[in-house]
Amino acid sequence: MKLSTKIITGMVAGIAVGVILNLLSKEAGGFAANLSAWLANMVFDVVGRIFISSLMLLVVPLVFVSLVCGTSAIGHDARMGIMAGKTLAFYVFTTPVAIIFALMWANFLEPGVGIGLGAATEFEPIPAPSVKDVLVGIFPTNPVAAMAEGNMLQIIVFSIIMGVAVTHSGEPGRRTLELFKSFNEVVMTMVTLLMHIAPYGVFCLLAKMFSELGVGAILDLAKYFFTVLLVLLLHQFVFYSVMLKALSGLSPVAFFKNMRPAMLFGFSTASSNATIPITLNVVEKRLGVHNSIASFTVPLGATINMDGTAIMQGVATVFIAQAFGVDIGIGGYVAVITTATLATIGTAGVPGVGLVTLAMVLQQAGLPVEGIALIIGVDRLLDMVRTAVNITGDGVVSTIVAKSEGLLDEAVYNDTSDPNGYREIVAQEEAASVASEQTDSRQTDS
Ligand code: ASP
Repeated sequence: MKLSTKIITGMVAGIAVGVILNLLSKEAGGFAANLSAWLANMVFDVVGRIFISSLMLLVVPLVFVSLVCGTSAIGHDARMGIMAGKTLAFYVFTTPVAIIFALMWANFLEPGVGIGLGAATEFEPIPAPSVKDVLVGIFPTNPVAAMAEGNMLQIIVFSIIMGVAVTHSGEPGRRTLELFKSFNEVVMTMVTLLMHIAPYGVFCLLAKMFSELGVGAILDLAKYFFTVLLVLLLHQFVFYSVMLKALSGLSPVAFFKNMRPAMLFGFSTASSNATIPITLNVVEKRLGVHNSIASFTVPLGATINMDGTAIMQGVATVFIAQAFGVDIGIGGYVAVITTATLATIGTAGVPGVGLVTLAMVLQQAGLPVEGIALIIGVDRLLDMVRTAVNITGDGVVSTIVAKSEGLLDEAVYNDTSDPNGYREIVAQEEAASVASEQTDSRQTDS
């Protein structure tokens, strides 16, 4: 079975079990309710959290080592600058486009008209960082602290500086690079190993999540939920396909087939950051993007490229404005577009962060922040879908930039067969068995 098929099976089974547990804990009393609570909290939660931790623990070493290798592979500092400029331009350009579409669809479908405000519960906004703090905060004072905190932008800056220094350090630089390259291979193998257990991890994560969620929340907020979902799906499959085809001439079908494992991980974890190891693996090994591009575009994208989040914020703003009967006018929309773009740039891709920055967007648009309470019930589910969109955007931009720099292996890109989903491991296993056969035959000869 293909890896993505296995993950999908795990997901579907997880959702089904979660929904059943949810029903049991609500409808059935006594033993059945206790058993389902025990399964959800003790078994699925524990395994799911261990799975997320195993992903997270790879993020910092992988980004650091891979980006040092990538930066030194690019060689010329000017070329690095051009590549970084293009990547940033694409990341920043797609976000306002996403919000504009979201605003248009939300105004057309009017999800918030006729919503009773009685549903609103308490919501305590967490203050979002200012643009100034975000800018200054990109530069680390202590790389070890940056790594300990998992501060992605600071890690990226430090790794690039180190990579540039490695290129300019002659023989010691070459020796350092060898070490980093070997370490990179080892961490990538850890990622591949983790992909083997992914279907079980994903099953537990979703079973736990759906055991709490239930589907009732969607019914209450159906119009909002489906408006966000519609715009997310259009962005994911129409906008990105057109962008990919127009800017690189590559097949969107091959892209989506190869990108699938990363999208599924994004959906299951609701965290672009936790998915970085998988995204990096998929973008390099299945889409054929050279490490010098992917090691920069993927971690950067996980932090600053959140089109899916921006879409939710666009629809949510219109929804809340309609629910409260406020007309935010053209000025309000401009404020939403700029604030949502900046807000997604300055925050890490972790679950639920989109809601935190939504508070900032609402304030700028002159809307009551308490409105967030209206949509909180379905946010976790939408978070999963929008994270998959965020990650797809990272993959699209990585591919376009790699193609334009002549650093895309199109044979790998167009090969969608990949029977086990992890070529590397299969190749290694084959190489190991050939080596052992040779050793055996040599032993028999002697
Ligand atoms: N969970 C999203 C991500 O990690 C961010 C968000 O929209 O809350 O990409």
